[in-house]
Amino acid sequence: MVDGWLEAPYDLSGKRVWVAGHGGMVGAALVAWLQSENCEIFMVSREGLDLRDQAATRAWIAHNRPDVIVIAAAKVGGILANSTYPADFLYDNMMIEANIIHAAHEASVEKLLFLGSSCIYPKEAAQPIGEDALLTGALEPTNEAYAVAKIAGVKLCQAYREQYGRDFISAMPCNLYGPGDTFDEQGSHVIPALMMKAHAAKEAGADVLEVWGSGAPLREFLYVDDLADALVFLLKNYSGAMPVNIGAGEDMSIRELAEIVSETVGFTGYIAFDSSKPDGTHRKLMDSSRIRNAGWKAKTAFREGLSQTYQWYCEQIQAIKKKA
Ligand code: GDP
Repeated sequence: MVDGWLEAPYDLSGKRVWVAGHGGMVGAALVAWLQSENCEIFMVSREGLDLRDQAATRAWIAHNRPDVIVIAAAKVGGILANSTYPADFLYDNMMIEANIIHAAHEASVEKLLFLGSSCIYPKEAAQPIGEDALLTGALEPTNEAYAVAKIAGVKLCQAYREQYGRDFISAMPCNLYGPGDTFDEQGSHVIPALMMKAHAAKEAGADVLEVWGSGAPLREFLYVDDLADALVFLLKNYSGAMPVNIGAGEDMSIRELAEIVSETVGFTGYIAFDSSKPDGTHRKLMDSSRIRNAGWKAKTAFREGLSQTYQWYCEQIQAIKKKA
């Protein structure tokens, strides 16, 4: 084994795989991706199990005895939600990961994959950001609470590996987008927020798309199906303490993104920047060379992923209209 990469892949066939958070964008894409593996997929709804409840989570895992767990459950949100509700982002995420990881250890789960995010890396990290940048500097304040919780999750996986020999790994994706994302003007991430606003402006015949901040920050975006593919790849091929970065390999400015979203949606007005809103970190391009060298790369072209996402969004609007 070199750098945590397995010589003989871990065989998922016949395994009982629990995707925690299957209702979210990542969990849903992963469940779809796992269908082609010969494994038994487990899911439990939010109503059926509150992952912040330690006793309930422990009992659920002890009863269902999964062989493999993927922690795709998390409280997530965009820059404004993160900075407005730090207590929720810190508490919910710490509880979810601590409860699942500890119970997985108690139940001798064979393999666990924890999902973090590129925001765990220092604000001033050298670009592209390698996994070894973790904890080498101060965090971006707008999402510090979320990042601290996710860093604790990475550390929990490493600690249970070190102390108990558990095969718990973690993956750090860049900014994600795709069908199943949360569409909410105030709370969501930039892609769904801009898509919603551009669509609403087009429908209303309005000529302005409002974009937060200066438009100068750079972000790296990965289509959620590509992430699902990478997660299955990691489950099969990776067993190391170091988290693994998963990115598309290139970034773009928010201004450029707003232009591409406008084209995708068919919005032809102009873009206005609201400088009263935060920019957040300037750049967080990840160095994903470890997973690339191991044989995985993102396959979906950005414009293709964006139009799939827009199509999904339009279908949701149609479905809501039909119901009303
Ligand atoms: P971040 O990567 O944690 O900063 O997550 P976001 O997806 O929330 O924001 C990315 C960048 O897009 C930031 O620089 C935001 O200021 C910018 N942005 C521009 N317009 C919007 C918007 O309508 N919503 C969000 N969430 N971000 C926006």
